[in-house]
Formats: sequence, C-alpha cells, structure tokens
Amino acid sequence: MSFMARDRIYWPGGKTKCLTFSYDDGVEQDLRLTEVMRAHGVRGTFNLNPGLFGRNGRVTGGKREVAHNKLSAERVPEVYRGQEIAAHGWEHAAMSGMDTARCVNEILKSRAALEELLRQPVTGYAYAFGTNDDTIVKAAQASGLRYARTVVSTERFDIPQDFLRWDPTCHHNAEKLFELAEEFLSDKSYFSFFSPAKLFYIWGHAYEFDQDDNWKRMEKLLELLGGRDDVWYATNGEIESYVAAWKSLIFSADSSSVQNPSATPVWLGSSFDRETVCVGAGETVRLLSKKEM
Ligand SMILES: [Zn+2]
Repeated sequence: MSFMARDRIYWPGGKTKCLTFSYDDGVEQDLRLTEVMRAHGVRGTFNLNPGLFGRNGRVTGGKREVAHNKLSAERVPEVYRGQEIAAHGWEHAAMSGMDTARCVNEILKSRAALEELLRQPVTGYAYAFGTNDDTIVKAAQASGLRYARTVVSTERFDIPQDFLRWDPTCHHNAEKLFELAEEFLSDKSYFSFFSPAKLFYIWGHAYEFDQDDNWKRMEKLLELLGGRDDVWYATNGEIESYVAAWKSLIFSADSSSVQNPSATPVWLGSSFDRETVCVGAGETVRLLSKKEM
C-alpha cells in the first residue's frame, strides 16, 4: 500500500481524532462520572456484571476504603443514558485457568442478561481483572462479542488490529495523562503504518476517584478534551462498528477506486496530506487525486 493513496481510515467527517472512555463494575460513583461526561459532551462504555447488580460492598485495594455499591438493574438504563453498556462477566470471575465452557458461561450469561435488560444487542466486553489468554479470547469470540478490552496501556493512539485484545491508551491515573492529552490534541502528524487517525482510549473505575480524592483530575481532563469540533466523541462499540465498515471496503488492486458495501459512510485519507474523501454507503468512489485524473 502506498503512503500517498487515500486508502487510510479517517474518523467520521474526515476527523483525525477520536476520544473514548471505558469504566468498569457498574458502581454508584458512575452516576457522578456520567454527569461530568455528559456536561462535557464526551462518551464511553460502561462494563457491568449483572450477577452482582444491587450488591453493596467496600473496597480498599491498598488505598482509602470507599463504598463499592453496585447499581441495581432498574437504575442501569437511566444512569447510562447516551452511553454504551457492555459486559464484564456474570460475577466478575478471574477466568485464568478455566476451560472454554466455563469461560463462555461467565461471558455469555452476562451478555444475555444485559441484552434482556436493554432489549438490544450487547457487542462489547471488558476482561475482569484484565485477565485474558487464548482460551478466554476464544470464549469471547464464541460468545458473539465484537470487541473486548484489556488493561495493558499502550500510551499510544493506534486503532486496534485485534478488537478482542483491545489495549487502551492509558488509565486515568497514568503519570503521562495530560502529556498524552496535549499530544492527542496537537495537529502534528501522528505516525502509524495503519492510519494517521488517532484514538485516545482512557479507562478506569469511578470508585477510584473517591479512593484517590481526584475527581478534579477528571474534570480538568474533560475541560481540556471535551466540546471540540475536531474530535469524534464515540463509545467503544461505535468505534468498532465504524472500523468494521472500513474493513469491509473493497479496493481495486491499484488503489485507484473503492467500493463501500456497508450501510455506514466511511472517510478515507492519505498518510501525509489531509485531503479526505467520503465513501458513502453502497457507493463506489475514485481515490486518485485531481492532478492524477
Ligand atoms: Zn472489574
């Protein structure tokens, strides 16, 4: 593939920046987090354990002890309005060492319960404790999931190649968080062989803001990153489904034209110049620049 061909994925509208969040466990602190996120127009995905709905507890995790109360099933649709809900296991089991059937049971049961509650397909997952190996990933795939998040920070903005092993950019407590935010917002070209379009993916647990007494850190981050015209604010699932539409494109062998068989318009651009082209749903488009035609 040529660096000059306009065959690289850009985000909807021809944008080069996409921001997403992923928060786990479905705790009461998500209420405050979703309010702050909504106020700044940012979006994300919340990963829930239906087997633990409504269960109250405390968490220390080597830090200050705080409440770890899980939301009840009835409150879920309203608390996460406008955000995406994904599965996180039936009862937050660490699946390492389990056979495929037990892994499928833990994953599929949580997916099915959320689908029943929401009356729509649930396509995403976050591995509890981040634990994943070949058996667990195979079980996630067999459970019909389209993507699953790990806890391995890349400190980069790459679009994942394997969505069932989706490594985030960083945790919200990462030392480099604000440095990464500045790099993300910069218009300097971002180098990746796959695409110059950037994906900033931040994850965590909302109860950690109570443990670390650092809600202000999140508010400061969202003031910086939220409400901008040059950023696509998306849930994890919207990103996966947009990239899937890009993957379904049919290119001519010489990269001069492309056909989009999907129902999603896809934006393309080259690695170096910022001229973009939109390939509408069901359309075929010439990719050569004006001077080449
Ligand atoms: Zn968890």
